[in-house]
Amino acid sequence: MIKIFIVEDEIIAAESLTVDLENLGYEVVGKANSGEKALQQINKTNPDLVLMDINIQGEINGITLTEELTKTHSIPVVYLTAYADQETLSRALKTSPFGYIVKPYKREDLASSIIIALQKYKEIEHIKSQIIEQREKLNFISKFDEVTQLPNQLSLVENFNAILEVFYQQLTYQKEFNQNDLPQLIPIFYLNFNRFKLIRDELGQDVGNMLLKALVKRLKVNLSQETIITRLQGDDFALIIPPIESKQIAIDLAKMLLEKITPPFIYKNQEIYIDFLIGITFYPLQGQNIDELLYKAKETIRHLEKIGENQYEVYSPALHKYTAKQISLEAQLHHALERNELELYYQPKVNIKTSKIIGSEALLRWNHPEEKFISPSIFIPLAEEIGLIETIGEWVLNKACQQFLFLQKKYKNDLQIAVKLSARQFNQDLLEHKILKIIAYHCFNPSLLELELTESLLINNPKVASKKLNKLKSAGVKISIDDFGTGYSSMSYIKDFNFDTLKIDRCFIKDINNNNTNATITKSLIDMAHQLNLEVVAEGVEIEPELAFLHKNNCDFYQGYLFSRPLPFRQFEELLVNNI
Ligand code: C2E
Ligand code: MG
Repeated sequence: MIKIFIVEDEIIAAESLTVDLENLGYEVVGKANSGEKALQQINKTNPDLVLMDINIQGEINGITLTEELTKTHSIPVVYLTAYADQETLSRALKTSPFGYIVKPYKREDLASSIIIALQKYKEIEHIKSQIIEQREKLNFISKFDEVTQLPNQLSLVENFNAILEVFYQQLTYQKEFNQNDLPQLIPIFYLNFNRFKLIRDELGQDVGNMLLKALVKRLKVNLSQETIITRLQGDDFALIIPPIESKQIAIDLAKMLLEKITPPFIYKNQEIYIDFLIGITFYPLQGQNIDELLYKAKETIRHLEKIGENQYEVYSPALHKYTAKQISLEAQLHHALERNELELYYQPKVNIKTSKIIGSEALLRWNHPEEKFISPSIFIPLAEEIGLIETIGEWVLNKACQQFLFLQKKYKNDLQIAVKLSARQFNQDLLEHKILKIIAYHCFNPSLLELELTESLLINNPKVASKKLNKLKSAGVKISIDDFGTGYSSMSYIKDFNFDTLKIDRCFIKDINNNNTNATITKSLIDMAHQLNLEVVAEGVEIEPELAFLHKNNCDFYQGYLFSRPLPFRQFEELLVNNI
C-alpha cells in the first residue's frame, strides 16, 4: 500500500484528509503540525509521498521544510494549502513540487493530483537510475580496458597515489626516514610484447585479443594480488609492484616473470612465440610521479628492443642519454638515403679448401657527416623502428645487384652475393614479389643471390614465412640461416625450411682451437648441416688456428678479419682481381 505523510497544522483538517486518503486506498503513516516534528517522523516512517501545508507551526514553514527534506530525501511533495497567491506559488515552485492543490480541495482533485505525482516521481526516478547506471558504465569504460578488464591508463595516477598513501603510512610506523634513503622502493615495470603488432596483423584482431587475455592470466597467476596491472595501450602494460627492500628483489621478479610468461601460446594447435621486454624503474629513485617513472621505464624498453628477446633492464641515466642521441639520429637517418650517405661494404666469403673468394656478404655502412662510425647494429634496428627499413632494404638489394652484376661480367660470372634481411624487412607484405622484381630489373641470376635470415624471424609465424621462402626458392634464390646457434637453434626449423646454407655465428668460432665447448658445438653443427645437404659458412674467423680447425672439420667456407674486413666496393674489387 502507498504510504502518505501529512504535514498540517490544523488537527481537524488533518483528520478529514486522513479519512479521504484512506478512502482512496492510501495508508497515512504519520501526521505532523510543525516542520521540526515532520522531519523527525518522516525519517522514521519513510513515506512514498508527503502532502505539505505551507502555513504550519514552529520555526519553519512548509516551503522551507520541503527544501530541507529534498536535500536529504527523495520523496515527492505535493503542496496542499489555502494560499493561492502568485508570490507563494512562485516560492513553492522553486522547490520543484510534484503538485499544488488549493484548499478547500475537491476529492477528485486530491485523487488525481496524487496519482499524477506518484507517476511523475516514478518516471523521474527511472531516468535518474538510468543516468547513474550510465555514469557507472562510463566510469568503468573510462577506467578499465574492455579486452582485458584491467584498469587502464586513466586509472593509473589514481591507483599510484593510493599506493603512495599506504606506502608512506606504513613507513611512518617505522623509524625516522629520509626521502633519499627510504627503507623501501616501489618498482614499476613497463612490459611490452616485442613484435605483437606483427602477430596481430598476421593473425587478426581476435587472436591478438586472445593473446592479451592469455598473457594477463599468466601475469595474475605469477604476481601477488597487490600488484596493480594496468593495460596502457596496445601491447604495453604497466605493473606497479608492492614495495620491496632491495632492487635485486625486483630484478629476480622480472626474471621469474619472463620465464613464466614466455612459453609459446597455443592457438589452433599452433604455437605462437612472443617475446617480452621489461623496463624497470623505482619510486622514488627515478621519479616522483607515475608519468615520469613510466616514461623512463619505457625508454629502457626502447633500448632493449635493439638487443633482442625476453629481456629486462633497470633504467640507468646513461641509457637515457643514449636515447636522446638516438632521437637525433632518427631524424638524420631519414635523410641518409637522399644525401647519399649509405654505402655497401663487402666482406669476402672464401672457400676453405681453395682459399678462393666465391662471393661476399654485403654489409651496410652509414657515412654519417659528424659521427665517425655508427654500427649497423644500431641504425638498422632504428630504421626498423621508424619504418625506414623497407626503403633501405630495397636500396641495399638494388645496389648489391648492380655492383655484383658489374663484377660478374668483368671478372667472375659465378660470384655470389649475400644480403641480410632483418625481421621487419622479412615480415613486410609481398616481400617476395619486391625482391623478385628487383632481381628481374637487373637481370641478376637469382641463384647467385643469397638472402640471410635469422631463426627468430621465422619462428613467430612459420607458415607465412615458409610461403614466402618457397616462392623465393622456386625462383632460384638461395637462403641462408645466419647467426646460427644464438637463437632458438631448432633443428626442426632447419629441416622444414629447406635452407641452402648455414652460417655459424662468430661466438662459436672464437678460440675454437682452445675452447672445447665451441669446438664440440661447431663440429656437430657442421656434421648436421652436411647431413641435411646444407653448406656451412663460419663467420668471424680471426686467426690462423681457427681456420685450421675449420679446415680439418670440413667446413666449406669462411668469412672474417683473417682474410679481410668488410671493404668498400673498389677495394673489394682489387682484392678479387688479385685472388682470381
Ligand atoms: P651480422 O650479419 O652478424 O654481420 C656480421 C658482423 O660481424 C659485421 O658487423 C661484420 O663486420 C662483423 N665481422 C666480420 N668478420 C668479423 C671478424 O672476424 N671479427 C669480428 N669481431 N667481427 C667480424 P657489422 O658490419 O657491424 O654489422 C653488424 C650487423 O648489422 C650485422 O650482423 C647485421 O645484423 C646488421 N647489418 C649489416 N648490414 C645490414 C644490411 O644491409 N641489412 C640488414 N638488414 N642488416 C644489416
Ligand atoms: Mg651474419
